[in-house]
Amino acid sequence: MDLGIEGKWALVCAASKGLGKGCAQALVKEGVNVVITARGAEALEATAAELRALKGGEVRAVAGDITTPEGRAAALAACPQVDILVNNAGGPPPGDFRDWDRDAWIKALDANMLTPIELMKAVVDPMMSRGFGRIVNITSAAVKAPIDILGLSNGARSGLTGFTAGLARKTVAKGVTINGLLPGPFDTDRLRVTMAGAAKAGGVSIDAIADQRRKQNPSGRFGTPEEFGAMCAFLCSVHGGFITGQNILMDGGAYPGTF
Ligand code: NAD
Repeated sequence: MDLGIEGKWALVCAASKGLGKGCAQALVKEGVNVVITARGAEALEATAAELRALKGGEVRAVAGDITTPEGRAAALAACPQVDILVNNAGGPPPGDFRDWDRDAWIKALDANMLTPIELMKAVVDPMMSRGFGRIVNITSAAVKAPIDILGLSNGARSGLTGFTAGLARKTVAKGVTINGLLPGPFDTDRLRVTMAGAAKAGGVSIDAIADQRRKQNPSGRFGTPEEFGAMCAFLCSVHGGFITGQNILMDGGAYPGTF
């Protein structure tokens, strides 16, 4: 299937590793020009080199913290125009809500709610005036079914999801769709970090936790960043123009509801 987005420009946030990288890879393979960001310049440059080797779209790398105004300004400045925005940032730490003070909440809200909203604010009007735009917010399966130790994530991402539900209905008439892509367990550094926490707490090895988690999932495995990227690229394609305000769960069937 030709996704029809060759030559478009995409800003893919937090993309040196994991799911953001998977999205950038899928877009570059479709001939989309991408600006990728991450805090650490070294890992980011290594990823940029990998993406350039795909010989698809142009690849620009901007090191910086996307949760800061400077980081967002630098990322936006590197992109001649943003046709596609993939919002992503690191997830908040696990813990008990009794231990989280106002600063912990503000940090989570900044990363997982306010940063995506700021970036949407920067790009959505130019997208509508050009008649085409695709925004994908990487959130979490926690939006549909809360994860007890990830209260900061449950709260901040639900706030983003609620805000986006309203905006997505206002932009679609001008060709701009906004959707959430909700990862369940994907094989990335982030998953390994959360499994390391569970392994330590339970006094077992990370491999034992990983085996248990795979078995718990109906698919018997974790998802891959490539699978995640392919869905992201489809949502960003010309074929995705009638899908907006949706929250697409990719979890191998873990969510137990019928709908
Ligand atoms: P990851 O740790 O593998 O990669 C995170 C990427 O984000 C890295 O490139 C890192 O450099 C970059 N990054 C982090 N904070 C940043 C910041 N402030 N500014 C710029 N770049 C930043 O993580 P992942 O698994 O790809 O997860 C991506 C998002 O999806 C996270 O918010 C995570 O909580 C969420 N999520 C992941 C899973 C999973 O199973 N992997 C499940 C649910 C939700």
